[in-house]
Amino acid sequence: MSSDCLFCRIVAGELPSSQVYADDSVFAIRDISPQAPTHILLLARKHVASPADLTKADHDLMGKIFAVGAEVAKREGIAEDGYRLVVNVGRNGGQTVDHLHVHMLGGRRMAWPPG
Ligand code: AMP
Ligand code: ZN
Repeated sequence: MSSDCLFCRIVAGELPSSQVYADDSVFAIRDISPQAPTHILLLARKHVASPADLTKADHDLMGKIFAVGAEVAKREGIAEDGYRLVVNVGRNGGQTVDHLHVHMLGGRRMAWPPG
């Protein structure tokens, strides 16, 4: 846990969030500024700043995040129509919170390519 990290503080329960899923390694919340009817953030409980900082020890964690995403999508009722999973990396990628997370966007048709 990094005490100055927003998502570490949310995962630790120090800051409020709209939680939709939690287990020992993954925590999912609704995005505070939703960009689609359903916009969920799949957070690693562990503090990893970005996918660029993943190590071999985190391989299972990434698989778990995607598996949890599939389960959450079913619960949210967006699995059948489809959805988008996005990871922003670094400044050009649009990353604003330096704690590993995957965006799940659904409930509308997504454009391609993304902006
Ligand atoms: P990124 O820009 O890819 O790093 O994604 C960070 C996301 O976190 C953005 O979509 C923000 O809207 C979202 N966000 C920022 N603060 C909060 C918060 N307190 N609770 C939920 N989502 C947040
Ligand atoms: Zn963190």
